[in-house]
Amino acid sequence: MQIRYPIELTMEEYLEQEAWVQANLHCCPFHPEGGCGLARHGTYPRKFPEYCLVARWYCPMAHCTISLLPDFFASRFPGTLDEVEQTVNIAQSCASWEAAAEALRPDISLPAGLRWLRRRVQYVREVLTILAGLLVTKCAPELEEFRKKYHADHVLTRLREIAEEHLPALPPIVGFGPRLRGRYCPLPCSNNRRGLSMD
Ligand SMILES: [Zn+2]
Repeated sequence: MQIRYPIELTMEEYLEQEAWVQANLHCCPFHPEGGCGLARHGTYPRKFPEYCLVARWYCPMAHCTISLLPDFFASRFPGTLDEVEQTVNIAQSCASWEAAAEALRPDISLPAGLRWLRRRVQYVREVLTILAGLLVTKCAPELEEFRKKYHADHVLTRLREIAEEHLPALPPIVGFGPRLRGRYCPLPCSNNRRGLSMD
């Protein structure tokens, strides 16, 4: 399982300070009363956008590893939450999904670029839709509305803290719960419309 490593570091600072070394898990999430033999269990690597490590523990009673994911990383997805947020921002400023895919991923084919983009848009929309309800934000599931509501320029990263109590059940890329069923849905608007919406 993954739990939150609540550090206010950028990925560059995390790397520079090797902050996974100082990471500490004071009690087992399965056995807060202790006595389960919780022990440090090395690290595992994240390879994108930079190679860095995530600290890990093992609970022998639950037969489960527990990793401390720093807030800037997306969960169960490569890269950082802020990269995903910027991707969606750029996509929304493009005239069409095709133009966005070509601008963001000129290195891959258009169908592959559209799939790449669709995943990111979908994960953001899912998490914002759920959080709009859980946090009673009265926000539409749009990044800009959440940025305004929480006075945060990089709101996906901030949502780890704001929605902390919901993380175990919340789907990736913000939460640590299971993915929602139904993998991908179509991109949500037509090709020839200006001003993309995530609705
Ligand atoms: Zn335990």
